Amino acid sequence: MVRIDKYLADMGKGTRTEVKKYIKSGRVRVDGNVVQRPETKVSPEQIITLDGEQLVYEEFQYYLMNKPAGIISASDDTRQKTVVDLISDRGRRNLFPVGRLDKDTTGLLLITDDGALAHSLLSPRHHVFKIYVAEVDGLLEEEDIRLFKEGIPLEEDWTTLPAELEILRAGEQSLARITIYEGKFHQIKRMFEAVGKPVLSLSRIAMGPLRLPEDLKEGDYRPLTDQEYEALMKLKR
Ligand code: URA
Repeated sequence: MVRIDKYLADMGKGTRTEVKKYIKSGRVRVDGNVVQRPETKVSPEQIITLDGEQLVYEEFQYYLMNKPAGIISASDDTRQKTVVDLISDRGRRNLFPVGRLDKDTTGLLLITDDGALAHSLLSPRHHVFKIYVAEVDGLLEEEDIRLFKEGIPLEEDWTTLPAELEILRAGEQSLARITIYEGKFHQIKRMFEAVGKPVLSLSRIAMGPLRLPEDLKEGDYRPLTDQEYEALMKLKR
């Protein structure tokens, strides 16, 4: 059992002060009856409506974001704006981004408060793939495809797993799609640096079953669709 004002705030329906106002003005019903006391205790099995619309209790929240450049992948930061700060309807959830994109990297980011799912997606044992599109300074060639496929030694005791490099445009500056099966710090930038073609811009377009929707503009986000949610749940173990 939880107080109705806390329940509504946790569900992202407003701040505690705002939801108290909704409750006092008679906009909230529990099992069909108007409830006007914010301290009323409710349980998630009860039918709770706000302005006649039923609230479905969600254990966790999941958002798919097209991360803009210039924003850091963190939950909270005293000085800089974070990707979680961009989510206006988050309620009082402890949301965090699953994995990190560099401040200047754009693209697909999953933001949730489901720690077990994050653990499954990030666990090095699971090798969840990620696909990036990179613009690099220099001419990409067959040789680079071979080097990426072999794995690139980036540290004394670490060579990357075989990665797929697909050249989308070759020129003085080239464009490529890269698939990796791990996610170490600055991995893509370090891989291209190692072949002498530094990254100019980087965007993530896929992570496991998730794809960056074409109509999701940088800085925008939306809840997962049912299909995306189901696909992710299969990875939770
Ligand atoms: N690799 C990088 O170098 N940067 C990112 O943001 C993601 C992968």
